[in-house]
Amino acid sequence: MDFSLSQDDCRFRDEVREFLRAELPAELRERHRQGFHIRDDDHRRWTQILGRKGWVAPEWPREHGGLGLTPIQRYLFDEEFGAADAPTILSFGRNLAGPLIYTFGTPEQRARFLPPILAGAEFWCQGFSEPNAGSDLASLQTRAEPHGDAYVLNGGKIWTTEAHHADFMFCLARTSAEEKRQNGLSFLLVDMKSPGITVRPIWSIDGEHHLNEVFFDDVVVPADRRVGEEGQAWSYAKFVLTNERTSAAGLDRMKAGLRRARRLLVRLAPGLDPTAVTQFRRRLAQLEVDTIALEWAVLRVLTADAREMAGASALKLRGSALAQRVAELVVDLLGPEALPQFSDEGYPHNADHNYGFADPDAPGAMTTHLYRRALTIAGGAYEVQRGIVAKQMFGL
Ligand SMILES: Cc1cc2nc3c(=O)[nH]c(=O)nc-3n(C[C@H](O)[C@H](O)[C@H](O)COP(=O)(O)OP(=O)(O)OC[C@H]3O[C@@H](n4cnc5c(N)ncnc54)[C@H](O)[C@@H]3O)c2cc1C
Repeated sequence: MDFSLSQDDCRFRDEVREFLRAELPAELRERHRQGFHIRDDDHRRWTQILGRKGWVAPEWPREHGGLGLTPIQRYLFDEEFGAADAPTILSFGRNLAGPLIYTFGTPEQRARFLPPILAGAEFWCQGFSEPNAGSDLASLQTRAEPHGDAYVLNGGKIWTTEAHHADFMFCLARTSAEEKRQNGLSFLLVDMKSPGITVRPIWSIDGEHHLNEVFFDDVVVPADRRVGEEGQAWSYAKFVLTNERTSAAGLDRMKAGLRRARRLLVRLAPGLDPTAVTQFRRRLAQLEVDTIALEWAVLRVLTADAREMAGASALKLRGSALAQRVAELVVDLLGPEALPQFSDEGYPHNADHNYGFADPDAPGAMTTHLYRRALTIAGGAYEVQRGIVAKQMFGL
């Protein structure tokens, strides 16, 4: 593997760096730096700024509106975003719906759906999980019954991130009952404004609303919104999940957390017990080393000829566990300072308020730590990913 940078790569990296320096709104950078989730209006604004530059999904092939970045350039692009504390683009359109549509969709679907993703004009959510179908996704029950030139959708999804802001959902539904549960599933592109859709919030432990339940009650989906062959969606779903897990490594958030931990350790060390300082230093050093190892693993998977599910699962496992350890270190360093001050306004989910944090690195530390607990499950539970790695990588 040759990961050395060409002149083109260096030029591209400098261009991204300069663009972010000039175009990233300061208040957005600050919210992201503190680890708070970006509000929907801010996310749309930022995506549209990137869209004007053609940088919402620059790694997409040129024929589908991307820049056809090499894996190294894609890595540099994400790396510069991390270094500048720039919010990353939500992955549902960029990494999941877009590649699904340009790989398996019709020319009409590509023409209809890809340009608004690239312009930051339409946002997507992922309709896979159901109350009784998460790890065991093939047991999903949402039904799409053919009626003339449409499907009628009934059932429900759960844990649907950003469904309350999404314009469309790529939805896995059962179009026929087959003996093998993986058969009979189809992919539908569902307009979230369709009559019969109800979205209910699920508030998460960080006090924010990202997650939802979505109910379908006789929702009509035109047949030309089905992606690929009817009943064949299982293989397309595996493609989507592999993309999701590859992008779940989240190096940018790791590095931002490490920067915060380093700042805290330097500032707080003089007032701490020397034994505690040594232990914190060890933890930080180990996390730095593990992050470098993860970085190389990401590059290896990105430059491999074919994305493999097991490689993506390994990245998901390592990336999520590391992100949790980094957030935990930050909270341990802060001690009681990490605790938000509760007030009549409720839980401090909003960086517009200071909530009495004394340390400049405290806002957002606890909410980040709490939300990262969800990574044990989100994007595929740890035990299940370990099973995939054991089976596919080691033949166990
Ligand atoms: C923050 C967050 C965001 C999410 N966003 C979305 C989204 O946008 N769209 C979407 O479709 N889904 C989303 N999900 C759902 C997520 O994909 C599922 O939660 C996940 O696949 C696990 O499914 P489950 O919740 O049904 O848990 P289960 O599958 O019931 O698992 C419960 C526990 O049992 C263990 N387990 C299950 N099967 C096995 C096995 N075979 N061997 C060993 N252990 C096993 C698991 O590891 C886990 O610890 C999100 C989840 C979270 C937490």
